[in-house]
Amino acid sequence: MTMTATCRHSDIEYLQNNLQINPAKFSIIHGNILAHQELQFEVHKKKDKEIEIIKQLIDLIEEIKEGRIIIYCARKKDCDNLIKKKETRIMIMTTAFEMGMDIDDVRLVIYYSYPFSITNLVQGSERARRDNNHSKSIVLYSKNDLQNNYSILIENKESMISENYTRSLKVYNIEQNLFEVIFYCIDLYRCRQIILWQYFAWPNDMIPTSCNICDNCRRRIHDKLKEINAVQEVQKLVELVEELTNRFDSEIILLDIVELFRFADNSRLRKRGFDTIIEERAEALRIGKQSKSKILKNKNLVTFVFWDLVCRGLVKQKIVIHQTIANHRICSVVVCGVENGAKEHLLQENWTYWCK
Ligand SMILES: [Zn+2]
Repeated sequence: MTMTATCRHSDIEYLQNNLQINPAKFSIIHGNILAHQELQFEVHKKKDKEIEIIKQLIDLIEEIKEGRIIIYCARKKDCDNLIKKKETRIMIMTTAFEMGMDIDDVRLVIYYSYPFSITNLVQGSERARRDNNHSKSIVLYSKNDLQNNYSILIENKESMISENYTRSLKVYNIEQNLFEVIFYCIDLYRCRQIILWQYFAWPNDMIPTSCNICDNCRRRIHDKLKEINAVQEVQKLVELVEELTNRFDSEIILLDIVELFRFADNSRLRKRGFDTIIEERAEALRIGKQSKSKILKNKNLVTFVFWDLVCRGLVKQKIVIHQTIANHRICSVVVCGVENGAKEHLLQENWTYWCK
């Protein structure tokens, strides 16, 4: 018997094969997870300098008048730095340590670096609702944390694989796991409870209503947005990714795609060798063969839709580590191309987005 509260439907087949379970002897019992209205999810943009981040943490902590606070760090080094400012009601730990811990008056969970996976986020945040009182789960998000997170996962990969099957299941898709967390963090409008619920939802599960307390629900209500179907523009974005990755041998990054999609012409793009495509697109625009997007109008939305395509498995991305001359390692995310049949596949899915 295997028991877990955070197993996706797609993981079942993988588990079944890897544990060599006879399907006839395999039955699944699963309950409803998440959608706890007392747990408030938020993502805050992490400040740049360490001193500012500490200030940011103190402000968050001071809002919580009673109960305990957990701060998860990716590395022990970060814990040690933070512990210098210790208070007994504040527990600072690495994500690995939290497994199996049982404390019931946690009011606030803070991810000092964004978590390694959505499963990680949910398991850690669950510590904050043991007694069913109102509590918060906050991720401090900075895209600069990718390098740190990815390095830790790579360092641990070997030992994790040898440990057991469940762990190797998580290692199995390190990059995709990180991409899914980034997508969660850059999401500005979808209810966070629903995003997390959908992640673990099984076919025929009843979708919960929006929580109305997470940062995204509050922002969506405040900005008075409406949902718009952007399928045609999403299709154009996929076509552009396909064209760029087919035509260019150099590494394509997300910013290239976002700027070219918006018909930009700047020195950065030209330096990257996109002169021909810039001119071709300008010409197509002039003769009416192409038109500017009416829905995916701003950079943020194009970026968001791109990450959506990655997380739905229609566009492929990978993390590449470059060694600098000074022997430093730099991490970057490179766009690899479009998955086979992506253009047909996307027509069967829903591409509505919250827009002004
Ligand atoms: Zn919500």
